[in-house]
Amino acid sequence: MTAHWRDISVPLGASLPTWPDSPGISTRLRLSIEKGDVANVTQLEMDVHTGTHVDAPRHFVEGAATIEELGLDPFIGPAIVIDTGDAGEIDSGVLRAAGVPAEADRVLLRTRNSSAKSMYSAPFDETYAALTLDGASWLAEQNVRLVGIDYLSIQRYDESPEVHRVLLNKGIAILEGISLRDVPAGPCDLICLPLNLPGAEAAPARAIVRHRQTESDR
Ligand SMILES: [Zn+2]
Repeated sequence: MTAHWRDISVPLGASLPTWPDSPGISTRLRLSIEKGDVANVTQLEMDVHTGTHVDAPRHFVEGAATIEELGLDPFIGPAIVIDTGDAGEIDSGVLRAAGVPAEADRVLLRTRNSSAKSMYSAPFDETYAALTLDGASWLAEQNVRLVGIDYLSIQRYDESPEVHRVLLNKGIAILEGISLRDVPAGPCDLICLPLNLPGAEAAPARAIVRHRQTESDR
């Protein structure tokens, strides 16, 4: 039986938590049939780090690759969902214990944020689980191409941008704001398509995964 694709991106709606200094998200009907216009046309306003999105190296490294310069390859292909349990600080010890395989190209961290459905409810929670500098350095050494996490930032709220920089300096794409609550740990296929915003340091994305069948599943 073929596994189903699951959406790991979150709806861009009013219940979405947004970063404290972010303008948030707003939509309004710019044209409305009900009000006599010929069509319904919605205007969307938000910054590009709202909801599920990808950070390109330019986010914290001046002059580095922008979102369209990353191409599509980091975003499509085999990935692994890693369950980090109740850990709030995801360091190399947590990653090793969770079993990140040496050959992993794309690592999606299913933390306690997913169990808490943190991406589905405002307000912003400063105590979200995130990667430490040690954890980011360890992943960078593994030569992964993409790291995903289930809250709005890969690094802790009060941490320096060094966690981002360690990954972005190596050209590793960071997928933030996913939800892995209904996704089993283990190998999967990932399709993630950040919007093509030439010159931007990040872009909103739709991301889906399909559990990869192992011999024992058949
Ligand atoms: Zn971001």
